[in-house]
Amino acid sequence: MSTVIGIAFGNTNSSIAYEKDGKVEVIANPDGDRFIPSTVSYVGSDEYSGLEAKAQLIRNAANTVTNFRDYLGKPFSNIDASAAKASSKPTDGGSAVAYKLERGNGEEAVSVDEIAVRHLTKLQEAAKDYIGKPIDGIVIAVPTDFDEATTKAVVKACEGAKMPVLQVISEPAAALLASDAGNAEISSGDRVSLVLDLGGIRSDAAVIATRGGVYTTLATHHAFGLGGNKLDDALVNYFAKEFEKKHKLNPLEDKRGVAKLVHESEAVKKTLSNTSSATFAIESLAGGIDYHGTVNRLRFELVAKAIFAEFNTFALEAVKKAGLDPLDVDEVLLVGGTANIPKIAKLLSSSFENATVVAPAVESKAVEPAELVARGAAIQAALVADFDESEIADSTQAVVTVAPHTTAPIGVKLADGSLKVIIPQDTPLPVKKSVVLPAKGSFFAQIYEGKHSIDEKEVTPTNDDDDSDFDDEPYTERTKKVEGTHLLGELGLDGITGDKVEVIVNITRELKLEISAREIGGAGVVRGVAGTAKLE
Ligand code: ATP
Ligand code: MG
Repeated sequence: MSTVIGIAFGNTNSSIAYEKDGKVEVIANPDGDRFIPSTVSYVGSDEYSGLEAKAQLIRNAANTVTNFRDYLGKPFSNIDASAAKASSKPTDGGSAVAYKLERGNGEEAVSVDEIAVRHLTKLQEAAKDYIGKPIDGIVIAVPTDFDEATTKAVVKACEGAKMPVLQVISEPAAALLASDAGNAEISSGDRVSLVLDLGGIRSDAAVIATRGGVYTTLATHHAFGLGGNKLDDALVNYFAKEFEKKHKLNPLEDKRGVAKLVHESEAVKKTLSNTSSATFAIESLAGGIDYHGTVNRLRFELVAKAIFAEFNTFALEAVKKAGLDPLDVDEVLLVGGTANIPKIAKLLSSSFENATVVAPAVESKAVEPAELVARGAAIQAALVADFDESEIADSTQAVVTVAPHTTAPIGVKLADGSLKVIIPQDTPLPVKKSVVLPAKGSFFAQIYEGKHSIDEKEVTPTNDDDDSDFDDEPYTERTKKVEGTHLLGELGLDGITGDKVEVIVNITRELKLEISAREIGGAGVVRGVAGTAKLE
């Protein structure tokens, strides 16, 4: 049995996960960190990594590289250099992005590929240390917007760090895989999930339909610059203003002052995910003056209000891109460090009324969101560990993104005109499903393709509840319904002796539809089967 691990490699943090005896663990590096900053720093010829490197952003920003993953495999002209504003600046290194670093031999240009290899080597060593065996292979997760060149550059960097890549999977698929493994009762069954990955410098969304255990990605959406760093910046500006009011000095005029405020703001923000108030203390912020105090969660929520609204809008946009309504979403899976923030989860709970929001603040069984991607990669790694190449290519269960699928619900029109759905929208093909309906003597059914629609009703609350805390503003109540819009076929049964029939719908990969019916446990005889049709 080979030794394999899963790697999450973010712009801000990386994690390593390992499955052993069916249990997945996120491995700490020798410093004890499970969320390992994707940061490399040089002081003379000494190399620092992880949290130690991140601490260098205050004193030694010019020789510290962070937020570099998204630069891999891209020419300098295609990158957004502003993402690295607090660290060494990315420059044009010809074939790749490069950094001008002082590593004890005068200034030299160091390619982003080399930085990635240095960082990934630290992860490899930490894993080898922990497991006690060399790493034979990894599964690594990348965002859904990575193209062939960027993915190749990531794979090459892993191999340069002595970690052969068995398979590359998408971050949202990894997260969903891990969440399903940990939360069978929340996540089992057919559903539409919105996987929302809120990181440090970017946010990513994927709308994924699960039908019979197969994932189909319906839409993806990305926002660059929307992430935890933006929240840190909002707190930095708030603290700077407060400090200036008191001391008539602007701490943002000095680079080191800014770096100290960023560092402390991030710590305050994280504390406020767990408790309702946080203390902060910064030595010599500006003019030799120390700055300390307390800030509560409500204040933070006020300071960050507009950014929280952006996360919410971002989520709604992703669902719109999939051609769905928020009411179609059954599950919102929150992923990434920023997903720990209670207010974000609460806003999403009200935007997605029908959905289970899976995040620590609203669902106690939720797995730590920042661990999900690494965990999923480890589960997939254990699955494919001893596969050969073609078997790995076939093991798309967790990874499928472009399976052919139905684009409308298909079902039986009932007497009241509503559609009893047999095959939900976004079901991967081929598929065969059936429904059991009551019948006496004879049975007739029409099979329709349908469409989802939303009923909107203005509701004016009646004011007969004296204890009501709610105001009496009218509001719109939205409910989801499915209507049959296009007749696909009809069928009937005669001579039914019992009281139940089964209607079976079969759709081939080529979109050929077959419908049939039979009496359950009885002698019903098929009359005029509708037979087959070709779906659009
Ligand atoms: P990206 O690629 O977007 O930079 P990433 O995948 O590397 O992101 P994550 O670890 O998912 O990074 O997210 C990092 C962000 O999450 C940071 O801004 C960090 O401050 C924030 N974060 C981590 N833990 C918490 C917490 N408990 N509460 C609030 N924010 C948190
Ligand atoms: Mg991430």
